[in-house]
Amino acid sequence: MFCVTLPDGTKKEFDAPLSVYEFAKSIGPGLAKATIAGNVNGNLCDASDLIESDSTVRIITSKDQEGVEIIRHSCAHLIGHAVKQLYPNAKMVIGPVIEDGFYYDIAIDDPFSTEDLDKIEERMKLLIATEYDIVKEVTPRAQVIAKFEERNEEYKLRLIDDMPEETEMGLYYHQEYLDMCVGPHVPNTRFLSHFKLTKVSGAYWRGDSQNEMLQRIYGTAWGDKKSLKNHLKRVEESEKRDHRKLGRRLDLFHFSEEAPGSVFWHPKGWTLFLELLEYMRKRQKAANYVEVNTPDVMDRRLWETSGHWYNYREHMFSTQTEDERVFALKPMNCPGSVSMFAQGLKSYRDLPLRMAEFGKVHRYEPSGALHGLMRVRHFTQDDAHIYCTEQQMEQECIDVVKLVLDIYKDFGFEEIIIKLSTRPKKRIGTDITWDKLEGALSNALDVMELDYILYPGEGAFYGPKLEFVLRDAIGRDWQCGTLQVDMNLPERFDIAYVDENGNRDKRPVMLHRALFGSLERFTGILLEHYTGELPVWLAPIQVMVCNISDSQTDYVSDVAAMLTQKSFRVESDLRNEKVGFKIREHTLQKIPYLLIVGDREKETETVAVRARNGTDLGTMPIEKFTDILQSEVEKRGRIA
Ligand SMILES: [Zn+2]
Ligand SMILES: [Zn+2]
Repeated sequence: MFCVTLPDGTKKEFDAPLSVYEFAKSIGPGLAKATIAGNVNGNLCDASDLIESDSTVRIITSKDQEGVEIIRHSCAHLIGHAVKQLYPNAKMVIGPVIEDGFYYDIAIDDPFSTEDLDKIEERMKLLIATEYDIVKEVTPRAQVIAKFEERNEEYKLRLIDDMPEETEMGLYYHQEYLDMCVGPHVPNTRFLSHFKLTKVSGAYWRGDSQNEMLQRIYGTAWGDKKSLKNHLKRVEESEKRDHRKLGRRLDLFHFSEEAPGSVFWHPKGWTLFLELLEYMRKRQKAANYVEVNTPDVMDRRLWETSGHWYNYREHMFSTQTEDERVFALKPMNCPGSVSMFAQGLKSYRDLPLRMAEFGKVHRYEPSGALHGLMRVRHFTQDDAHIYCTEQQMEQECIDVVKLVLDIYKDFGFEEIIIKLSTRPKKRIGTDITWDKLEGALSNALDVMELDYILYPGEGAFYGPKLEFVLRDAIGRDWQCGTLQVDMNLPERFDIAYVDENGNRDKRPVMLHRALFGSLERFTGILLEHYTGELPVWLAPIQVMVCNISDSQTDYVSDVAAMLTQKSFRVESDLRNEKVGFKIREHTLQKIPYLLIVGDREKETETVAVRARNGTDLGTMPIEKFTDILQSEVEKRGRIA
């Protein structure tokens, strides 16, 4: 006799081994029907696997995240089943689960077209409709090899070669189709209804461009119809908001092969970028930061001292000059900042020293990883390093958190998720120091009564960190700000200050913080968050003044000059075009306000105001419009 304990603590006793499915059935037929797999003593297993001794068991259904992942993995196998029926010469490679979905790599002579993709999806649906059982058989190695040899699945054989230690493998039968996997998988195809194939692309065998190109079919799958629908809607919404498209359409920036991963900012995009930078500059100044600037190219020795030369070199751009010196483009601003601190004697009176730098950092990213403004090789951080005493540390953390949360509100982000990552297994520093540093971060959050998610063991080897994640208008999360405590660099660069008692070797605490993170990426996030409809204070052109006919040309110039003089960003459109055409064009350019002037406006010294959402705000004196504009700018992106 043995005892099975359920998550709620209930216990059930059994005389003979029974499968996870049978166990679920002993609780109720509804649960049995919903069973995808089981979690037995912390391990995921198939519904057909046996429970033989005292165990804790949780039944996994499509409502569990694990259940959804199993569904995705089983959908990948189902691609195999469908593809082999339609293209018997195809050779199956691997089919893992990825975020929100799955893919399968397939070796086939002719690349798949979108019509092929539709055909495969149709076949998968047919197979699902037959509701066949997926059968697992743990099989000895030699037999597995024989089976795949017989089927000419040479990639499966190569994968078996990669696992010389394995004496047996899990084989999953989808009727006549066979796949090898550790599982678990759904017991029946009826669980797989809520899927969609999304795209096909090329991928190299083992991810190596020296190898042959395979075909990768991507798909997404969910536990129920609604989740699938919501996901597809989200994808469609994100595509509409794609900042790369908006960047082109609104003439903000471009990328070019001559500088992969580097932004060419156009006048309008650069206006936006500078607006962000100036905003941050003002906020930092008000928070008693000083701003510095350190060199972009620095000697290899500095990077040896910082450790980057040994630990980060594959991401660094380096160069050798005529005189044989080796330099590197900075991948981070920190070492420059520390050597700045080391200049001249520092005393406790200088602390806290908050040193900000809009540093442009350079990191080599593989070209496949580059993604518009979101992932580039050269970007500008709104970086700052705070040097302080241990006693000052907690207050500094509080101030940084306050500043970051207030700043995000100005951009219309109300929902911020805070993550605290604590000491990892591999680390420097004593436990007493770690207690202090983690304490400073968590106390700061507690004092401010902020909720946070704890990530034990996820901190850097040199200190704990806070991360700030923004949730955008369509519910996507973007990690932007960070606050990190560092015990490593002050030590490596041997920096010190003189304390109240004249001790000259006191080690300061070093905090690294960035609020936007990367200005390039933050710009991309803003564009997607607002679908390009930037709030007035950020819009590269805030007002467009349009005439109806030539007789208002002078008046248009006067109005534009008056607004420009008040520091608004104004342009005028005097083209000989119909006013309706002008309105359409500037509305598509998402310019917040259009001022239309005809003879009547000219005579009465007024402007007809039109907002970009199409609202007609009526005719008003220019002063009144200036007031509206001014209050919009002052409101920034705050949600009233
Ligand atoms: Zn599998
Ligand atoms: Zn830093």
